[in-house]
Formats: sequence, C-alpha cells, structure tokens
Amino acid sequence: MSDQPARTRPAPREGGASRPAASRRLLLVHAHPDDESINNGVTMAKYAAEGARVTLVTCTRGEEGEVIPPDLAHLAPDRDDTLGEYRVGELAAAMAALGVTDHRFLGGPGRYRDSGMMGAPQNERPDAFWQAPLDEAAGHLVAVIREVRPQVLVTYDPDGGYGHPDHIQAHRVAMRGAELAARADFRPELGGAHTIGKIYWNCNPRSEVEEGFARLRAAGHGFPGIAAVDDVPGVVPDSEVTASLTGEPAHTAAKTAAMRAHHTQIAVDGPFFALSNDLGQPLFGTEHYRLVHGSPGAADGAREDDLFAGWDDMAGMRESARFEEAAE
Ligand SMILES: [Zn+2]
Repeated sequence: MSDQPARTRPAPREGGASRPAASRRLLLVHAHPDDESINNGVTMAKYAAEGARVTLVTCTRGEEGEVIPPDLAHLAPDRDDTLGEYRVGELAAAMAALGVTDHRFLGGPGRYRDSGMMGAPQNERPDAFWQAPLDEAAGHLVAVIREVRPQVLVTYDPDGGYGHPDHIQAHRVAMRGAELAARADFRPELGGAHTIGKIYWNCNPRSEVEEGFARLRAAGHGFPGIAAVDDVPGVVPDSEVTASLTGEPAHTAAKTAAMRAHHTQIAVDGPFFALSNDLGQPLFGTEHYRLVHGSPGAADGAREDDLFAGWDDMAGMRESARFEEAAE
C-alpha cells in the first residue's frame, strides 16, 4: 500500500522491572477481520514496532458483512458468497500495515462462519460462530494460548461492545480460553498449562467519543450523516477506563492504513471513517482499555499507559496462583 508508513524498530525499554520488549507477548481475540484495526490498530502497531510478539486470533472471516464498493457487491452472501475469502486478503494487508506477522483464524480459516446481526436467520446456521459449543471453540484458543504463552490478552466486554452475536461469542471464547489454558487437567495434549497475567476489555471513554464527534461536525466532513455516540462500541463512563495508549504519529498512520485495507467494510476519510451505514465517526489515535484480571501497573486512580505495566516474574507468579484459585 502506498500510504503505508515506514517503521523503525526502537530499542527495547531499559531499566526497572519491565521485561525486554522481545519477551512481551500480546494476544488479541476478535470476531471479524477489521475489528482489530478499528479497536486496537495503534496498540498492535506500537507493540509490534517495539519488538513484542503480537498475535491476533480472528474468530470468523466476516462472510455476512455488507460490502461498500459497488464493484465488489457480487461478493455478498446473497450473490457469490465469497466475501469471507476476500476478507482473508484484506486482513493480511491490514496486518502488513500494522507490522503484525502472527494472525490466525480460530480453528483455521472458515471453521466458524459469521453469524450476522442479532436476530438474523444466519444466527441459526449450524456453522455460525454463535452456534459453536463454547468449550469446543475455546479449545482452539487454548492451543494458541499454550503455544504463544501471552502475558496480556485483549478482547471485548460481555456485550461484545455492541451486542453483535459474534462479538459476544468472541468475548466468551476469549475468557473461557484463558481459564481453560491455565488448567493443567484440560486437554493436556494441547500443551503445558499457561496463565495469562492481565486481561483487558476494549472500551471508549464517553468524553473522548463526544469530543471526537464534535471535531467531526466542525470539520465539514463529506459523509451523508454522522453516527451517534452510542453507535461506537464499548462507550463507558471515563472513570471506568484503566489504561489508555496513545500512539506516535507512525502508529496512528499504520492504524489508518490497516483500516483502509479493509476496504469492503470501511471508508476512511482523513481522521474519520464510515462503515457500510455511511455514517461518519472519528478514527481514534488513542485506544482505551479496562483491566479485568491481573494487577494494575499504575498508582491507584491513575491510568496505565502500557498494557504490560507492572508485569514482572514475581507479579506473574502471584497472579498465577490467584487465577488458579479463582478458576477452581
Ligand atoms: Zn465485528
């Protein structure tokens, strides 16, 4: 892609108890190709550039998405039904833009099909991700967790951010996968038990989303309409946010390029974008999280600016013991 930024690989951070970047391992679990770039593009680009191992697991190929470019309308499920294969290529291009080399589909590409929006007849298809038995789907993730052995997991909140069945199911699979991966008695053939130290859910603080929409209105955008604040997934009161990552301009540029790579799903216009509903929304260069498992690496009340903050071997051992107790 011509607008892909050049990336340099800065030296790992020094000092303190923080691990060298090369031993940091971040796992993200998402429902469809494009969710990772919209939610976590800056985070993924930043950690990949620092030398951390970034692993993306996408649960479906997004076969039921609506296609924006008219010349690709034939890919749609009610015509050729080849959107899933096409989006595998879009995801690969997005990962190249973010500098992420380890991306996989849960159980392999096409193992689970996009379930469509909540209430759609596609929810009932036997191959829909929404119909997948939880421990079977989580078992595929356990294999990845035990192989990669991430310290940090990022996924959605229990509502999947906005109630899409595949996002809800991705949340369930991520949380159950983390629990089962830590249990030595669960399918030992998948590898040695591994406890993830910190688990985060994606979120967006309301004040920042409101400011983003104010910028969009003031900018004289070219979208037919503007989305509402509550159309943005995972909007929460500011006080619930525990970690905020602001990328360097190169990381925001990489996120923007990754979103452009998902061109059947996203129309990017400068610092704004629209999904297939044509409603403009802000493209955020700061990404936010809620820590839901593990110890915060910032003082009480302060937000972390690093998802690995406070993570060291001692904390890891303490957390392992606590998580195993909680799982029993
Ligand atoms: Zn999605």
